[in-house]
Amino acid sequence: MPRLAVIGFPVAHSRSPAMQSAALAALGLDDWSYEAIEVAPADFAARVGEMAAAGFAGANVTIPHKEAALALAGVPSDAAREIGAANTLVFGGAEIGPDGGPDAEGGIAAENTDAGGLLAALPSTPLDARALVLGAGGAARAAIWALVGEGARVDVWNRTAARAEALCADLGGKAVAAPAQAEYDLIVNTTSVGLGGEDPFEELPLDAAGFVPGQLVVDMVYGEGSAALLGAAGAAGATVIDGLEILVQQGALSLRIWTGLEPPLDVMRTAARG
Ligand code: NAP
Repeated sequence: MPRLAVIGFPVAHSRSPAMQSAALAALGLDDWSYEAIEVAPADFAARVGEMAAAGFAGANVTIPHKEAALALAGVPSDAAREIGAANTLVFGGAEIGPDGGPDAEGGIAAENTDAGGLLAALPSTPLDARALVLGAGGAARAAIWALVGEGARVDVWNRTAARAEALCADLGGKAVAAPAQAEYDLIVNTTSVGLGGEDPFEELPLDAAGFVPGQLVVDMVYGEGSAALLGAAGAAGATVIDGLEILVQQGALSLRIWTGLEPPLDVMRTAARG
């Protein structure tokens, strides 16, 4: 009975248990289970250390444990190491990475599927795209790593400019203070603006009327929190992708790593939006 989980603090709000449980059922993996585990930072390493013996095949890791998850992994993927965070752990023996990757060999392997999840959600490759990433936190690191790696020309704006500069020095991309909104093919909001009802057009360097047709606008924020930003972008003729689609895509990549099976994306979408 292989067990899976999402580990966070807090974690009760997570859509991953509903989404992954629906996917496991659709794949006929009736003996697998997926649960939410709330663990405080001080207890994270000890708890993860016990999981393999308790029958866990793997886990998703969310705020605030993604850096700690990387630190625990004996076999991090290149993506996880370069991003500096892991959101997917595999306990013993599974293969990780797009080309078969390193083998955990009984230890803990780690991947960052936030990066691949963003790329999977895009309708086409961002090669040569002019991209603007808003934010310089953990979600920004994964987005910038993914976009730079795919050959996009990435500008990064952050409220605290020094963080954008440090991040670009580390991962590539160019820190900008006043991005020209209409000139980007792709705009990715990785800030938490909107999550608590903040007005994106007050907090971010964007105008509601400044989007243009043909742009692709991605908001990592889930649900209602992305409505103002994506509503304005969609009204201007931009293609929009919300945070739940990114959640589905990163979860699908994790599920493929654990099970080796093709994830049922539509089942996962329906369950995530539940
Ligand atoms: P984080 O590390 O705490 O970073 C937060 C970022 O938001 C920072 O760049 C911060 O700027 C910025 N910010 C916060 N309030 C702001 C405001 N009022 N105005 C302008 N900028 C503001 O968080 P994270 O882990 O990167 O997560 C960011 C968001 O992405 C969250 O909403 C999270 O739920 C979402 N997320 C979604 C997925 C998904 O699968 N859809 C995956 C990961 C994360 P400063 O540096 O100036 O503080």
